[in-house]
Amino acid sequence: MRLRIKVTYCPRRALTLADTPCPDCLNCQGAGVIAHDYGDHETGEYAGTDWEPCPCWSQWAVILLPLPRLPRRLRRRRDTSPWACDGYSNEPPF
Ligand SMILES: [Zn+2]
Repeated sequence: MRLRIKVTYCPRRALTLADTPCPDCLNCQGAGVIAHDYGDHETGEYAGTDWEPCPCWSQWAVILLPLPRLPRRLRRRRDTSPWACDGYSNEPPF
């Protein structure tokens, strides 16, 4: 098990501790899923791919910290630089 901390956005924004696929896994080459191509039963033509989750990782994740949505006015305030709040730049030349 290789646990990583990552931010998920579904179903809501949260900091989670999640398992990740093994990068040198022989089954999935680190992709975490194994592709099974299947063909049409009568013609034998390629008909699609089944994706099977690889046993080298599990898809569970533990929510460590739910992240609240920021109110819009807080989000906008963070975009402006702090010294520009009064409308004057303190960069030289003054
Ligand atoms: Zn694997």
